[in-house]
Amino acid sequence: ALIVRHRVRNSNPCVKSANILKELEEKCATPASKLRQIADAMTVEMHAGLASEGGSKLKMLITYVDNLPTGDEEGVFYALDLGGTNFRVLRVQLSGKSVIEYKEFAEVSIPPHLMVGTPDALFDYIAAELAKFIADESEKFHLPPGRQRELGFTFSFPVLQLSIDSGTLIRWTKGFSINDMIGKDVVAELTKAMDRQGVDMRVSALVNDTVGTLAGGKYDNKDVAIAVILGTGSNAAYVERAQAIPKWHGPHPKSGEMVINMEWGNFKSSHLPLTEYDNTLDVESLNPGEQIFEKMIAGMYLGELLRRVLYRMAEEAALFGDTVPPKLKTQFILRTPEMSAMHHDTSPDLKVVGEKLKDILGIPDTPLSTRKTVVEICNIIATRGARLAAAGILGILKKTGRESFRDGEIPNTVIAMDGGLYEHYIEYRNCLENTLNELVGENFAKHIKLILSNDGSGIGAALLAASHSQYI
Ligand code: BGC
Ligand code: MG
Repeated sequence: ALIVRHRVRNSNPCVKSANILKELEEKCATPASKLRQIADAMTVEMHAGLASEGGSKLKMLITYVDNLPTGDEEGVFYALDLGGTNFRVLRVQLSGKSVIEYKEFAEVSIPPHLMVGTPDALFDYIAAELAKFIADESEKFHLPPGRQRELGFTFSFPVLQLSIDSGTLIRWTKGFSINDMIGKDVVAELTKAMDRQGVDMRVSALVNDTVGTLAGGKYDNKDVAIAVILGTGSNAAYVERAQAIPKWHGPHPKSGEMVINMEWGNFKSSHLPLTEYDNTLDVESLNPGEQIFEKMIAGMYLGELLRRVLYRMAEEAALFGDTVPPKLKTQFILRTPEMSAMHHDTSPDLKVVGEKLKDILGIPDTPLSTRKTVVEICNIIATRGARLAAAGILGILKKTGRESFRDGEIPNTVIAMDGGLYEHYIEYRNCLENTLNELVGENFAKHIKLILSNDGSGIGAALLAASHSQYI
């Protein structure tokens, strides 16, 4: 049978698009009561993930980092930061007096085909960049004979660590998909590639970007206890009491503490305000069913959610006229930085919005009312994401008892933040901070500080390479 499906258009497209907008707003609503339920669910999952391996959607990964940098670290160390759209190489010279004397970056974007190719192709590319970086190096960084260069490897994907310098990939996220890598030791793969490229270096620490950010943040400020990444992907790490980790059967760390990589991107709860747009985004993604929280809050996905809402409005409410602009069908064509630019447009005629719609989607001459609708959608999606991220942070504060009195006093908590979304999307960042203040209340808000720890993850990895050097 031939099924002909008619999209019935309301005779008044304005009414129809207003309805879709209203429905979106209702479905995305995040009143404080809901955020508290989400924070509580996060806390419950944290307990479950710490209790047993596989006990929760939250992996709560043991990082083997039981000491954060002290400032005594000394020497020249390297870091390699792989995880989003770019990767970076840096060198850090540590003076042993809490001072970073020198750092140098090389930032390279990863060719998209390498994200879905073979392990060797990806790691050879990285090792080749590392080789170039070292080749250009001035003599003053040459190490004494017999001493190997040491590297902190920031690898921002879920990894089951076997030790501080080894770990196997659990799965890819964020647009990476190289099947042959799953279950393999990422340090072994990098080491083999470095051998092939003639790079004489040893990986002394394998860390997640959240863990690097925590280490880098702590180096600057001793009150740092939590790190959150809001970039292409999203995740958090924090300092946990070793005794609160039932699944840890290793030796009791002297510090009594262990850094936990939560992998909060994979959090899921029936309290999450999911919409049809989230569901189809998930189903059509490289990792359906996974990283549901990340898909609601992180930079890789916000622009794509916007595109999906616009598509529906174009189709059902003729938002852009009689036909759906063909480019609007392309997944990921609207990136979050462009969404942010539109959201922040303060010109009276929303000029930036008009330009972006024209340049990216090929839609000329949009009326002001349409541009306003676009900004409203940006606001709804970004607000939901930022408020959910704040609820996630509240979950960690609750789990670690930082949202209650300790010996009659309120503990000071500094949260090291990094990632392009947090750094550049000001509306998102402000909303997150305001929401966190709203949730913890005025008294506690004074004792909780979010700091931007730019480049923290790379520097932190170099610091951890130093404290786990084979020469000490
Ligand atoms: C990864 C995490 C990472 C986060 C931020 C997520 O997709 O699973 O390991 O920390 O992105 O980069
Ligand atoms: Mg990063």
